[in-house]
Amino acid sequence: MNISHHIGDELLLEYATGALSEGWSVAVATHLAMCPHCRARLAAMEATGAQLMEGIEPPPTTETDEMSWSLLSERIDTVDQETSGEKPIRYEPRKERTVPEPLYSYLGGNPDEIKWRSLGLGAYHFPVKLGDKSTSVRLLRIPAGKPVPEHGHGGRELTLVLSGSFSDANGRFGPGDFEETDDDIEHQPVADPGEDCICLAVTDAPLKFKSRIVRIIQPLLGI
Ligand SMILES: [Zn+2]
Repeated sequence: MNISHHIGDELLLEYATGALSEGWSVAVATHLAMCPHCRARLAAMEATGAQLMEGIEPPPTTETDEMSWSLLSERIDTVDQETSGEKPIRYEPRKERTVPEPLYSYLGGNPDEIKWRSLGLGAYHFPVKLGDKSTSVRLLRIPAGKPVPEHGHGGRELTLVLSGSFSDANGRFGPGDFEETDDDIEHQPVADPGEDCICLAVTDAPLKFKSRIVRIIQPLLGI
C-alpha cells in the first residue's frame, strides 16, 4: 500500500494521550492499522511522553530540536488537562481482511457484507453505531467518477480511504490515505474513474448539504 496522506501531529498526539472521543479514535486507529509510518511516529511520541512523565530531560541537540521539544511539552501539558486519561482505542496491524481492526468489528464485516443505504445518485452510506454521540461515523460508497454531494461542515472531518480513490482540492487520496479538514472548508471530493471509492468519514456535526433537495431529505436519510 502506497500511503501518502498521513495523520497530522496534533491529531496523533491527541490519540496518544487518550484525548480523542471514540468516533475520531476509530478513524485514527484504523489508519494506524494500515500505516507502519504512523505507527512509528506514534511509538516515538509515546516514548517522548514517557520520558516527560519521568521528568528526564532529553539531551539537547540542535536549536530546532529544542524548540520542537518545548512545543511538544507544552502541547502534552495542554492535552493532559483536557483528557480523562482513558486509553486510546487499540488497533492491530492489518492482516488479510479488506478492513482492518478496529473498524472491522465496528462494521461487523467487510464492506461487501454490510447493508448499505442509498443516498441517491448512486451513492451509499452505512452509519456506524457508537456509544460516542458527539461524532457521526459512517462508511461512504461513492460511485466511480462521481462526486459526493457538495457540503460544508461545522468543525473537523476525518476521511480514511479503504478502497478505490477520490480527488479534491487537497490532492488524490487512495487506499490508506487520511484526510483531515476543518471549519469552513468546502471540498468537493470526486471518486476517481474505474472503481467505486469506499471511505470512512467522521464528522462532529450533521453535514450541511448545499443542494435543497438533499437538505429536505437529509432528516429522512438520517445523515
Ligand atoms: Zn500514516
